[in-house]
Amino acid sequence: MKKVVKFGGSSLADAEQFSKVGDIIRSDSDRCYVVPSAPGKRNTSDTKVTDLLYRCEEQFSAGEDFSATLKQIRARYDEIIDGLQLSLNLDEEFRRIEKNIKAGEGRDYAASRGEYLNGIVMAAYLEYEFIDAAEVVLFDENGEFDADRTNEVLGTRLAKTPRAVIPGFYGALPDGCVHTFSRGGSDITGAIVARAAHADVYENWTDVSGFLVADPRIIDHPKKIETITYLELRELAYMGASVLHEDSIFPVRKEGIPINIRNTNDPEDEGTWIVESTAKKSRYTITGIAGKKGFCSVNIAKDMMNAEVGFVRKVLQAFEDQNISIEHVPSGIDTMTVFVHEDEFISKEQAVVSGIYRLARPDVLEIESGLALIAVVGRGMKSMRGTAGRIFSALAHARINVRMIDQGSSELNVIIGVDNDDFERAIQAVYQIFVETQL
Ligand code: ASP
Repeated sequence: MKKVVKFGGSSLADAEQFSKVGDIIRSDSDRCYVVPSAPGKRNTSDTKVTDLLYRCEEQFSAGEDFSATLKQIRARYDEIIDGLQLSLNLDEEFRRIEKNIKAGEGRDYAASRGEYLNGIVMAAYLEYEFIDAAEVVLFDENGEFDADRTNEVLGTRLAKTPRAVIPGFYGALPDGCVHTFSRGGSDITGAIVARAAHADVYENWTDVSGFLVADPRIIDHPKKIETITYLELRELAYMGASVLHEDSIFPVRKEGIPINIRNTNDPEDEGTWIVESTAKKSRYTITGIAGKKGFCSVNIAKDMMNAEVGFVRKVLQAFEDQNISIEHVPSGIDTMTVFVHEDEFISKEQAVVSGIYRLARPDVLEIESGLALIAVVGRGMKSMRGTAGRIFSALAHARINVRMIDQGSSELNVIIGVDNDDFERAIQAVYQIFVETQL
């Protein structure tokens, strides 16, 4: 078995966390490729090393002295090195980083050094080989990740290297300059390494024991999701649930490699499995609930709309002309509604309205704001009778007015629109009926 293990910043924030990580890796010899993030926060008031590195670059660009910030970063690594009793000296590395920032290597270069240095420390600690991500994670001249070339170069390198540490978050452009993924991008590197190594599993170690059925800010101690499919995850992530960088799914999905989200502070917990497909049923009919506030609906009516060929296209054209993306389009016989994000829509509202009148000549047009959308997601819903009935009776009991219903064609989710003010109560009502009472 081959496992790729990625550790997030909070798992590597200090020597104590590092040694937990060391124990986890050493306890299973299949854990052969390690992808570290930069040291994260040690407590809520702390600053991530990545943010300190961005600060160095900003100070340099503003013509300010950044040596104090760099010293602060150095202290973070020295604490780890000393705590682990490693005989590693980063003098030379820090001299080079300072020189390169001063030479204008740029923001991505500066930010990437958090992972780079943590990779060096981790490799020394585990006695694994260090592979600089700039040599094996490749972007094209437009800064787009080059999946095929990376897979080839990295795959060849890993085939020759049975155990290695590959820092997360960055790679290089064709001219050799360092380029990073977006924030949280070490998750993506982990997935890329898993694909190139033909790993059996991609373990993503963080500070929670996996995905939760609902947002813990809304539900007190929500249950954990044991197994979730990529598609379910996509639906929930889209609605705001987050543990993993969204783009980290694609590389492993291509190879059918499962992701296992694990907790560094509770390594015995099995965590959450993210898989392509599974025969395992969710413990509850639903897998998860997530939602977002801040939507508007544009309600349109026109007599005989159903008979007018091209009506929907004309309406949607008015949104497209203003470059507004559309969330949902539930429709009736002579009515249709278009849901959009309030903050994207508001400044272009009147241009959209006049566009709709010009293109589609509706009889009535009405805009409503302050709406929230909630996605109730579950692969089990397709084969269960009465799921929708239970959702709506739970909402009715909680005296919540449902403003919109939309069942995705995948039958994987039901989307419900409610007033912003009812958002939390609606999630609580749905959670209660499926998870707490398990009806
Ligand atoms: N260190 C980077 C960040 O803070 C990347 C990562 O941790 O995944 O965003």
